Amino acid sequence: MTPLLEEVLEVARALIRFDTSNAPEAVLGRPPGNETGPAAYLHEYLSGFGVDCELVARDPSRANLVARIPGTGDAPSLAFVGHLDVVPADPRDWTHPPFAAVVDEGGWLWGRGAIDMKNEVAARAVAMAELARAGFRPRGDLWLIAVADEEDGTADVGMRWLLEARPDIRPDLAINEGGGERLPLADGRVVQTISVGEKGTYPVRVVAVGEAGHASTPDVGANAVPLLGELLGRVGRGMPIPQESPHVDAMLEVLLGPVTDRASALHDAAALHPVLAHTIPALGGTTMAPTILAGSGKRNVMPARASVELDCRILPGTTPGDVERAVRARLGTDLRYELEWPEPLIAGSASSPATALMDAISRVLVASGDDAQLLPMLCTGFTDSVYLREAGTPTAYGFSPFRSTPAEVLTAGFHNADERVHVDDLLLSVEFHVALARELLG
Ligand SMILES: [Zn+2]
Repeated sequence: MTPLLEEVLEVARALIRFDTSNAPEAVLGRPPGNETGPAAYLHEYLSGFGVDCELVARDPSRANLVARIPGTGDAPSLAFVGHLDVVPADPRDWTHPPFAAVVDEGGWLWGRGAIDMKNEVAARAVAMAELARAGFRPRGDLWLIAVADEEDGTADVGMRWLLEARPDIRPDLAINEGGGERLPLADGRVVQTISVGEKGTYPVRVVAVGEAGHASTPDVGANAVPLLGELLGRVGRGMPIPQESPHVDAMLEVLLGPVTDRASALHDAAALHPVLAHTIPALGGTTMAPTILAGSGKRNVMPARASVELDCRILPGTTPGDVERAVRARLGTDLRYELEWPEPLIAGSASSPATALMDAISRVLVASGDDAQLLPMLCTGFTDSVYLREAGTPTAYGFSPFRSTPAEVLTAGFHNADERVHVDDLLLSVEFHVALARELLG
């Protein structure tokens, strides 16, 4: 094991051992997060190499780490970004305890956060340490921003709050989570994903409207529950009707060439790799997965109203009117229902895939002997890159290279049991980030 691999492995294991499970206190049975532990650990680690570090906290137990190597000011600034919290883990489902950071004989590091995303935070911190030790003087500021509260966000102590509280933290370019999966395609090519944007959300409640009645005579009145059942059948699993999106088209073009028929392109692209089979159809437009049901409060009362909430995930640029049209197109006009909007629209956003950062990433990969083509994708879920773009960082991508951890292992472990990463990918990521900083800021 090289010294640099030993170092990044030690940092990653230390981060995993802090249990930073983040979910509502009612679910966890204790206060969420506790990210100050790993934030303080990184503060001490990086300060040791002369990097300017500070803990910025709205809640003392939930600090964000902000570290910086100041630039001379004649290049754009670059931020290495990550979050320190994780989703909860039930140890009963795991081969190794989720917060023990076990390394097995095959070179796998096991633990909650091994891929989402204490691996990347460790690699980015060690890359910064390595640059500082080498006396690197960047032309633009180099930041490391490791935040609390990404996985839940309701406490608002992480990235959104940090950027509002600290208008001085405005990197021009950011590299965060969400990409780097290596996909050998059915046609023989190899691509690796880079996330250029995230979908947003706009949940809708579909309320079936009937007439109340006594449950002893089911055909009197108009029980709203069977009516809701019919509406639910029309929603099905909530997969989208394909809609126009330049970001999705850019992805499809890398996979298949120019897009003529979007629906068949989505279908063909999904067939190129098992990991794409679920993400690509979901990226076609507004998904509307049915989740929360409500009917009668009393068994002997057939309700006049029954409802389902659809967890709608929307492409960047989608308006409330677009969502309403997509939902009504599914539900038809012959049954009686109303729509309610329990939460405001949270827009998705995306960065251009044609930027200096994309070019630099590509050059660094080629120079390291990696010729897999970059595949610009949207995340089906949310990341802090949305807040970065909102606050004025035009280019925020999700990328960290994985060569030894297959895409299937990454996908299976994400927010699931037996999350693990191959240790060689920790070193690969350190070397990638060192080279990227030198390429852009050197
Ligand atoms: Zn994450």
